Amino acid sequence: MKGIYLTLIISILLFPGCYRYDEPEPADEGKIIVLMYHRITSGEATNLYERSIENLKKDFEYLKKHNINVISFNDLAEIKVSGKMPAGNSAILTFDDGDNSWFSLVQPLLKEYRYKATFFLWVYMIGRNSFIGWDDVQQMSYYTLEGGVHPFIFGSHSFSHAYLNADRSKFQDLNEYNRFLDYEFGESKRIIEEHIPGKVEVFALPFGDGAGDENIISAAERNGYKFIRTSIQTAIDIPDQDFFQIPAIPVLDNTQSDAIGNYLGI
Ligand SMILES: [Zn+2]
Repeated sequence: MKGIYLTLIISILLFPGCYRYDEPEPADEGKIIVLMYHRITSGEATNLYERSIENLKKDFEYLKKHNINVISFNDLAEIKVSGKMPAGNSAILTFDDGDNSWFSLVQPLLKEYRYKATFFLWVYMIGRNSFIGWDDVQQMSYYTLEGGVHPFIFGSHSFSHAYLNADRSKFQDLNEYNRFLDYEFGESKRIIEEHIPGKVEVFALPFGDGAGDENIISAAERNGYKFIRTSIQTAIDIPDQDFFQIPAIPVLDNTQSDAIGNYLGI
């Protein structure tokens, strides 16, 4: 009998979680990952910045299987106000540049999964070469789910896709540099807003250049932006994330879907 008690005591000491089966598990605070895609291809991807529709679908299946909630940048603002990370993990889907596959391939898949996404436009290229046209941008941006939610949000990826920080030395002084930044932030925003409902409030840095730079953040602020997406490769794990330095993970041609889980600790 003494032996049984001893075994029990040792088990409790070794496995402190075992005897608390009657208490509900506290809901774990999750992390948020921002995924960055570029062009989606119907066949095999042919370079680093392409991803096949087949692999995009695998990514979506991965999110679904692991109960990763797909949210938007505006949801981040609500999380900040609440002061608490949501229970379970979340993802924000983003697409850069403006390939016409967004309309032909990405949009139908997003609708199938009922996922939200943010699309960052390289404004000068819209309607040129293989880029999406303004009519298609408009159609996507006005698409509405029940309750009046617009799941497809358009942000700016600048006007000319310039290096916003590395090109600083091309300008004679700060005033001239700020005029350049105001054009890239302000003019791109103004043009996009001619075609979409609502305001452009999210900016994605071309080449990820200039993350955390104070001139760039000031330019974003004075031109009415609330968020800057960088290319800093990490997950968000605190509710008061700096909105002008939002990290993102590039999903490239050969990225495995379960790499998403590595950043979330799955
Ligand atoms: Zn880009």
